Amino acid sequence: MRRALRSTKIKKVIKRTPGNRLTIHFRKPAPDYAHCGGCGKKIVRTRLRSSEIRKLPKVQRRPERPFPELCPKCMREKIKELFRAVIKI
Ligand SMILES: [Zn+2]
Repeated sequence: MRRALRSTKIKKVIKRTPGNRLTIHFRKPAPDYAHCGGCGKKIVRTRLRSSEIRKLPKVQRRPERPFPELCPKCMREKIKELFRAVIKI
């Protein structure tokens, strides 16, 4: 087994081949959570591979609110900042 494949993050699945032999198949590790662009907190819903995300409808790919790259808390702060800037002018 290759050194890189010995990592505990890689899942090993034993499969029986058509020639009736047992082989080990390697599953890639799950991708990391998406993080908020403001505070760096985890955005829990988005822990999928890009191939899995492509199969979902668009509404399930990202939140249906302004600034989907931010967590809800940071989004509220950002909107408040924008409105404060508008009021000053
Ligand atoms: Zn945040």
